[in-house]
Amino acid sequence: MTLLDSDTGPAPLTFSVTRNLAAATTAEREEILANPGFGQKFTDHMVDICWSVNGGWHRPRVQPYGPISLDPAAAVLHYGQEIFEGIKAYRHEDGSIHTFRPDQNGRRLQRSARRLALPELPVEYFLQSLRELIAVDGAWVPSGADQSLYLRPFMFAKEAFLGVRPAQKVAYYLIASPAGAYFSGGVKPVSIWLSEDYARAGKGGTGAAKTGGNYAASLLPQSEAYENGCDQVVFLDQDRNVEELGGMNVVFVYKDGTIVTPESPSILEGITRDSILQLARDRGHKVEGRAVSLTEWREGVASGDIVEVFACGTAAVVTPIGVLKGADFLDEQPTGELALSLREELTDIQYGRREDTHGWLTRLDA
Ligand SMILES: *Cc1c(COP(=O)(O)O)cnc(C)c1O
Repeated sequence: MTLLDSDTGPAPLTFSVTRNLAAATTAEREEILANPGFGQKFTDHMVDICWSVNGGWHRPRVQPYGPISLDPAAAVLHYGQEIFEGIKAYRHEDGSIHTFRPDQNGRRLQRSARRLALPELPVEYFLQSLRELIAVDGAWVPSGADQSLYLRPFMFAKEAFLGVRPAQKVAYYLIASPAGAYFSGGVKPVSIWLSEDYARAGKGGTGAAKTGGNYAASLLPQSEAYENGCDQVVFLDQDRNVEELGGMNVVFVYKDGTIVTPESPSILEGITRDSILQLARDRGHKVEGRAVSLTEWREGVASGDIVEVFACGTAAVVTPIGVLKGADFLDEQPTGELALSLREELTDIQYGRREDTHGWLTRLDA
């Protein structure tokens, strides 16, 4: 019996594969993997899938990594119709390659697409793209401590048209970049600058979508953070509630063990945060998603009610916040054991050192 597509999801795509004849040699690759840094080196191949109003998703390809040719009138260059994802592939001790909760990234890409009036890539195609890239570039997944292959799916409006409306031609791409340990020499607390003059998102805006525009808007406040001697910037919303950092969610730990994270329609729903909070629930912590005002944060730290503050996201996993600095104050933040112990539990699962009781891992190389 043949099942209908609607029962089984879309039929799998058949990717054409063009091998990179100028691929890195084993020695060149090993040299890069020995010290990959972050986001500077890329694997030998990339995946792309086209979309058009009439043709839907078509021409799935694996091709040599390299420059993209774009019409100068491509809508993305003018109106910023673009979204992306960030997800890692981990090599386990036995050599197998796994990724973490990719269905969540696939679904978030769809939510971002909806907000940016882009087409929704079926989650099945998203997963297929990860597998296709690993099939040709699996050797690029490093095996050193805390190393991974950072996967960067993205989608943009490529139609050449200067009128303002959703583009009728779109491209989805997947590239990959080997990543070293985010913190060389151990995890250390970061200092955070409180941005008072700038917001990263507004009510009804694109704050919950993973879109380049949010990052573009965060660059100036981020330089303000550097000028004030801080590593990162934290944003408030119009009611002076805490939102998040430029690319990481914020989590507060209270004296009674309760864990609170700011929740609002303008905050990006991090998959790292969701996973960390689940692990905390498993340990018996009470977890709350709600508004946290700047006043609650500062008074909570001053009174000792808040015992730890940390940030989380795929790239750095979990980072304790050591200092909150504003134009006229500097609050040392209490640091405890919970952030680092949750970080260790999460990375143990990701690297296959601990049982994956939630079924979060997906094997990519088989
Ligand atoms: C990607 C991102 C995060 C973290 O999400 P993860 O799924 O944990 O990587 C947090 N905030 C913003 C603005 C982001 O773009």
